[in-house]
Amino acid sequence: MIRPGSAEDISGYVVNLQHFSTHDGPGIRTTVFLKGCTLRCKWCCNPETIAPKPELAFNLKLCIGVKECGRCIPVCPEQALHVLDSDGKVRVNWDLCSNCGKCVEVCPSKALYHFGSAMTVTEVLAEVEQDGGFYSESGGGITLSGGECLMQPEFSAALLKEARARGLTTAIETAGNVPWKFMAMVLPYVDTMLHDYKLTDPVAHRRWTGVENTRILENFRRAYDEFPDIDFIARIPLIPGVNDDEAHIDAVLAAVLPYPNVSGLELLPYHRYGDSKYGFLGQVYALEDFTSPAPEQLARLRMRISEQFSKRNPQGLRSQ
Ligand code: SF4
Ligand code: SF4
Repeated sequence: MIRPGSAEDISGYVVNLQHFSTHDGPGIRTTVFLKGCTLRCKWCCNPETIAPKPELAFNLKLCIGVKECGRCIPVCPEQALHVLDSDGKVRVNWDLCSNCGKCVEVCPSKALYHFGSAMTVTEVLAEVEQDGGFYSESGGGITLSGGECLMQPEFSAALLKEARARGLTTAIETAGNVPWKFMAMVLPYVDTMLHDYKLTDPVAHRRWTGVENTRILENFRRAYDEFPDIDFIARIPLIPGVNDDEAHIDAVLAAVLPYPNVSGLELLPYHRYGDSKYGFLGQVYALEDFTSPAPEQLARLRMRISEQFSKRNPQGLRSQ
């Protein structure tokens, strides 16, 4: 039962929940993707998580046409919807749209829909707990991702605190580019923190992600120092031509190996997903020439990491 004003009442903006995740922390997990991100990575495949609040999306293929339907155009208060004569289907003028959601309510085919919605802690956990049996058998639980889950620190902290109280293990995925006080609010309720070292060179970091990395690196160091019981897993989303060089791998190794609570360094090979989501949001995917890493390069870098972690900790290796 929700107690008025209680932590279970706190709501946040959620993009979606993904059940049966096996790469977002230990065991089988439910990953909750939150809205809002502070980075603008050029290779981003989740543009629907960037804006902090729900936003309109439009899938032209699902529009059944104004002759058969046409319900959305008259309800739009901004005159942001019109019909294109050539195919009889609707188009959105994204400059005029205020994201009021009125067209979403009347669209029968879900051509118009929202990326993201407000959910309370109770609502999220009700959906997460549907997978309860799998958690107890696998050591899994809930993982908060995004976007940047630390952009909604009150919601994330309340959600993880309540998840723990219900016996779930907790994990977050973060890029770390938030004020330290946000991180400090959430980490007391975290068992595993998966955190990205996208680039270690500050100039390259700004070029590829739009922000500097000074605060990120400081936050990670401080987190390792102040939360010795958290299992930290460093990760590199590996993008050829951006960060697949040995200098970056070595710099990350130098940053994490002194800390025994950083249990591993994983490479996440880039795969191109989600270009279509840019179109659904009325945006253009700016750079289209990123490729996946070659298997040999991936194997070579993983071997480099394994060797270094093995030297530090022959028993507890986790570096893939
Ligand atoms: S969300 Fe609101 S403003 Fe935007 S197109 Fe739909 S009705 Fe119009
Ligand atoms: S309400 Fe939906 S299906 Fe109907 S015309 Fe508008 S976008 Fe197309």
